[in-house]
Amino acid sequence: MHPRRELLAQRALGVTQSAVRDVFDIAMDPNLVSLAGGNPWLADLPLEELSRIAADLVAQHGTESLQYGPGQGLEEMRQAAAAVMAADGIPDADPELVVITPGSQAAIDTACRTFANPGDVVVVEDPTFVGALTTFNTWELDPVATPTDEQGLVPSELDATLTALAAEGRRVAFLYTIPSFANPSGALLPEERREEVAAVCKRHGVLIVEDNPYGQIAFDGDPLTPIAAKHRDNVVYLGTMSKIFSPGVRIGWALVPSALKREFYLGAESAFIHASTYSQMLSTAFVTQLDWQGHVRAVTGLYKERAEALASAVREHWDPAVDVITPRGGFFLWATLPQGVNTLELMHRGIEAGAVFVPGAAFTPVDGIHSTLRLAYPFVESEKLVEGARRLAPVVNEAVAA
Ligand code: PMP
Repeated sequence: MHPRRELLAQRALGVTQSAVRDVFDIAMDPNLVSLAGGNPWLADLPLEELSRIAADLVAQHGTESLQYGPGQGLEEMRQAAAAVMAADGIPDADPELVVITPGSQAAIDTACRTFANPGDVVVVEDPTFVGALTTFNTWELDPVATPTDEQGLVPSELDATLTALAAEGRRVAFLYTIPSFANPSGALLPEERREEVAAVCKRHGVLIVEDNPYGQIAFDGDPLTPIAAKHRDNVVYLGTMSKIFSPGVRIGWALVPSALKREFYLGAESAFIHASTYSQMLSTAFVTQLDWQGHVRAVTGLYKERAEALASAVREHWDPAVDVITPRGGFFLWATLPQGVNTLELMHRGIEAGAVFVPGAAFTPVDGIHSTLRLAYPFVESEKLVEGARRLAPVVNEAVAA
């Protein structure tokens, strides 16, 4: 029971009571191997060049870089966002339709305030991004899970979900989807399904919010074309500097259909005025002055090595009844234990054994016992990942055997 419960809104109580919230704090303990947080590896950034640029931003451009800026974001930053989107597979994004936000988390929030009424449905993959679920709860929305398989959304299931919701007279604010190397499942939605998902949503008159922080972190081959590339009018596309540069700069963006741009950017302005001018300038410099794509290639190679080290350690030390998907990109390895194993309980035993993961319950709007878990590898060196998998092995194997 919260000591000042009477002062709090219902939605705030919901957030503070989340059973898995604490895991991200616990994961900071240096004695634990943390497989919990999705932190990118920053040690290989060109830090010397960045520090020169950062110092210049104050020394040479202090009165601009520390000043208020336009609500939609700086034009140079919107152009830089368009360059990043070109590498994502959207070659012709119009900077006029880009709204810069403090990370894509703020863009998800802006989508809610712009498109959703309290009580509306947001259709989500199951599992989906925990931060988005929290925001949907904050806006008093009803996230409805549509079934997925190892490749992500299943268009026929999505069609059935939307048909059923229409029959119940529910308003669907949008579909929230992460088609490339999803958080937490790592799933990569095939090209054909992307087209089918776009067609299903169009038929039902449902807007798509496509969240793509991981598309360029592809271990083999090029990024798959985002849904937004061919369906600009019905997709709000979210990008971010967080995984390719820095999450601390808090710079992301939305590419918005032209008919919705005005409302979206006024919504953004009412929430945060605009994203940090200084961070926008630093992020612009990263894209225009440094070999940012070389950096993305280098960290992607590192992440691939780490993902493989972790996947093989898990396969070697964990009971074969645990179903493991070797990631093809992105930040996460998703594992499914036999039905009935409660990974939320397992998490506590894992912490006692010296390693921490995020239990599947964090990533689903569906109540009940969940036997899935997420392991993050980008921020942990390979030997430590192997050590983490080893520490968790007796806990996992005992639960599987029980
Ligand atoms: N969307 C997804 C799918 C994510 O995984 C994350 C970060 N974990 C975000 C959005 C938020 O990222 P940002 O730092 O851009 O707010």
